[in-house]
Formats: sequence, C-alpha cells, structure tokens
Amino acid sequence: MFSLTSLAKRYQSQFEQQYAQQLSPLHRRALDKIIQCHTPQAGAILYHCEHCQYSPTFYPSCGHRHCPSCQHTANMGWLNHQQQKLLPVDYFLITFTVPYQLRQFIFTHQKWAYQTLF
Ligand SMILES: [Zn+2]
Repeated sequence: MFSLTSLAKRYQSQFEQQYAQQLSPLHRRALDKIIQCHTPQAGAILYHCEHCQYSPTFYPSCGHRHCPSCQHTANMGWLNHQQQKLLPVDYFLITFTVPYQLRQFIFTHQKWAYQTLF
C-alpha cells in the first residue's frame, strides 16, 4: 500500500524538476509539509511517565489543509455531517450539454434556462 506521502518523498526531486515553472511557493510549501508530516522534521513531542518510566516520542502532524494524513478525520466528519442532511429520497444527477453558441446566453439567463430545460 502506498500513500501520497510516500510518493511525494520518492518523486519530489523529479516532480520539482519537471514542473519547476508551474509550481508556486504555496505548492512547494504544501509538498514539504506533506513530506514532513509525522516525521522528526515536523518536530517532536516527548512524553515521560514517572510511574513506569515509559518515554514515547511522537512526531506531530503538519496540519496543512492539503495533507491527506491530517485532513482525513476532518473529511470524514464533514462527510458524516453532510449525510445527516440528506432526505430519505432517491437523488439523481442530471447533466445537460448545450451547444457552445448557447452557453453564454444560458449562463446569463440561468433561471429561465433551467426552468425551460426541465
Ligand atoms: Zn499532515
């Protein structure tokens, strides 16, 4: 099983060389944060139990909004919240493809266009 973090670590250099012109500082920061998440590069949290002398070290999460490790719990919470809003009915997705020549008109007359199409 691979993760985005393992792929980012493995191909970071190659990726940055190939897309050097398109990468913004924000992209580079996100990539660095994802790679550093839960590693010593992200810092360390040291605990110590006086009773049993257990001293674990934990590496903190990066907290970056694009990090899949950090945002998994938040994403699941959002998804559960959205599912609670669903009505007990069947949902459908309908897509209309209109000719290119009509798109600007429909975009500027959306209420009329949707009523007409339905
Ligand atoms: Zn993270």
